Amino acid sequence: MSKHRIETKCVQGGYTPGNGEPRQIPIIQSTTFKYATSEDMGKLFDLEASGYFYSRLQNPTCDSVAAKICELEGGTAAMLTSSGQAASFFSIFNIASCGDHVVSSSSIYGGTYNLFAVTMKRMGIDFTFVSPDCTEEELNAAFRENTKAVFGETIANPALTVLDIEKFAKAAHAHGCPLIIDNTFATPVNCRPFEWGADIVTHSTTKYMDGHGSAVGGCIVDSGKFDWTKYPDKFPGLCTPDDSYHGITYTERFGLEGAYITKATAQLMRDFGCTQSPQSAYYLNLGLESLHLRMKRHCENAQAVAEYLKKHPKISWVNYCGLEGDKYHELAKKYLPNGSCGVVSFGVKGGRKAAETFMKSLRLAAIETHVADARTCCLHPANATHRQMSDEELRAAGIPDDLVRFSCGIENAQDLIDDIAQALENV
Ligand SMILES: *Cc1c(COP(=O)(O)O)cnc(C)c1O
Repeated sequence: MSKHRIETKCVQGGYTPGNGEPRQIPIIQSTTFKYATSEDMGKLFDLEASGYFYSRLQNPTCDSVAAKICELEGGTAAMLTSSGQAASFFSIFNIASCGDHVVSSSSIYGGTYNLFAVTMKRMGIDFTFVSPDCTEEELNAAFRENTKAVFGETIANPALTVLDIEKFAKAAHAHGCPLIIDNTFATPVNCRPFEWGADIVTHSTTKYMDGHGSAVGGCIVDSGKFDWTKYPDKFPGLCTPDDSYHGITYTERFGLEGAYITKATAQLMRDFGCTQSPQSAYYLNLGLESLHLRMKRHCENAQAVAEYLKKHPKISWVNYCGLEGDKYHELAKKYLPNGSCGVVSFGVKGGRKAAETFMKSLRLAAIETHVADARTCCLHPANATHRQMSDEELRAAGIPDDLVRFSCGIENAQDLIDDIAQALENV
């Protein structure tokens, strides 16, 4: 499948049925798998043979869908997780422990920020947050002796900043660290971070990949390119024997292409159990089959909506990297030449009150905490996810009180614009 183009991989990647086998990926709704002898099973437990024994570790449905996402990103190994949050957590915790340090872009999803700055900090992992727009010097200055990874989002939710992936990859590699990219908003249809030097990619598949608001899920993909064995003291978990697996050394047994994901499955899935259900993986795959078509329409609709808003007298500002003159337009031309995503953010003149009036006047666009769905939805962070903050705190967090996050679906663009137009008349 790897020689095919992205559209073909969306439809047919990851699963090739044999003669007389189901055309669609079968839902293997079974927690467990049967073996003739304890010896056979023992080999699986010791990771000496590959096969299924318990769905907390691996399940054939989930593996087929992970294999598709792996092909889409151009990686060597991938795993599904129960959510995007679990993917973000595993991606770091697989290589960083208590006493370690991670450099992260400050422009990331709020849930990820909380995971890093609060919960993982309680586990003893320290994060330094840097602006995605920082200079190379500022970025290099953030590293410490014990830095284990660098993290950022291709297109940040909700700030819509575009990350200079090459700049972050260069700094990460200069300090012997892998670059982990959350590619949720761009999807591999619009950007493949491995082509720009990233080493590991994560996804909240809940968003565009599923695309229909059906199932919460996540995914981690490894490029297989980061050479852990060059830094054995930095990554002992990958480069020295694992006592909980009879002294297996992951890099020796599974090579650079398989070590990271095998370790995450064998240790983190075993111990934390954040698995995706086979049923959810099946829904995810249905979404992936049309991802290339939907992304194109999401982007066309967002471009049309952004251009309309930009000219509207009741709109104070618009963020969309597809707009000429947007702060991230140049980076978008480089990293996202075929389109970015369907999310536009903007300010309604008149602040919080005007944004509220605008939102409740919308008829097609539903108010939801969700984004990146086939159906257009929107959110006013000052009244929802960031409700506890004062106007002053909101400004400090870079979320003005008039900010509306508008996630364009795949409906007709003119219908979306008409809906916005009638809602703005009430403001
Ligand atoms: C939603 C989201 C997450 C978290 O994913 P869940 O599936 O909700 O756990 C992580 N990163 C980004 C960019 C997101 O938009």
